[in-house]
Amino acid sequence: MDNLLWKEAVKFHGHECPGLAIGMKACEAIISKMKIKPKEDKIVCIAENNTCPVDGIKSVFDCDYDKKNLFYKESGELAFNIFNMDNSDSLRIIYKGKNKTNSKEEYIKYILNAEIDELFDFSKVKYNL
Ligand SMILES: [Zn+2]
Repeated sequence: MDNLLWKEAVKFHGHECPGLAIGMKACEAIISKMKIKPKEDKIVCIAENNTCPVDGIKSVFDCDYDKKNLFYKESGELAFNIFNMDNSDSLRIIYKGKNKTNSKEEYIKYILNAEIDELFDFSKVKYNL
């Protein structure tokens, strides 16, 4: 994870936490799998949870509920459905990482340094826009 990007996200979010780390790594994964150019490509996200990770999506992709490019549909899973409006590509990303550490700080470090495929599963999106 790019340190500057992480610091920006922490500033946006207000604190460092594993949830934000998950959100930021999800963005990294989405960018690499979907070949997205952040803040250039028009991204719409349906988040399946509304906790700290969502701030990662907001910070990196400029998505927000007010801007109508971020929606919330509770499923109990830590998952995001991402749509690239420029090429109608879409992807669902689900967090599957496990916390094997003893502290919040170690868990954050683990998430930020882990391989994308170790942290996430990818599948087809559940919804149409
Ligand atoms: Zn948080």
